Amino acid sequence: MSVKLVSLKCPSCGKALSVERGAENVFCTYCGTPLRVEPRNRFSFHFFNEAKIRKAEANEKIRMKQLEMKEREAKRKRKDQWIAIAVALLFAFAMIFIPMLLRR
Ligand SMILES: [Zn+2]
Repeated sequence: MSVKLVSLKCPSCGKALSVERGAENVFCTYCGTPLRVEPRNRFSFHFFNEAKIRKAEANEKIRMKQLEMKEREAKRKRKDQWIAIAVALLFAFAMIFIPMLLRR
């Protein structure tokens, strides 16, 4: 069994590359650009935009973290509000009941 090679041109530097048939992700041996062999068209190279995908994923993660932090902040604020209301109510009750108890 011999390995079948396909000749493809790097879309980045234009140099001809020999790629093993069936390979999906390759790097240009000349310029190092990550490339993906399009399965629908074995004879064309497409930029494998891994960097962009990774960046998008990282951005998404950051966005999720920010949302999470905002949510947590909102929860904390709501909790603080409830504590403030509870303290105010306790204070109001004390102001009403303590004089009543003292009057007896
Ligand atoms: Zn190249």
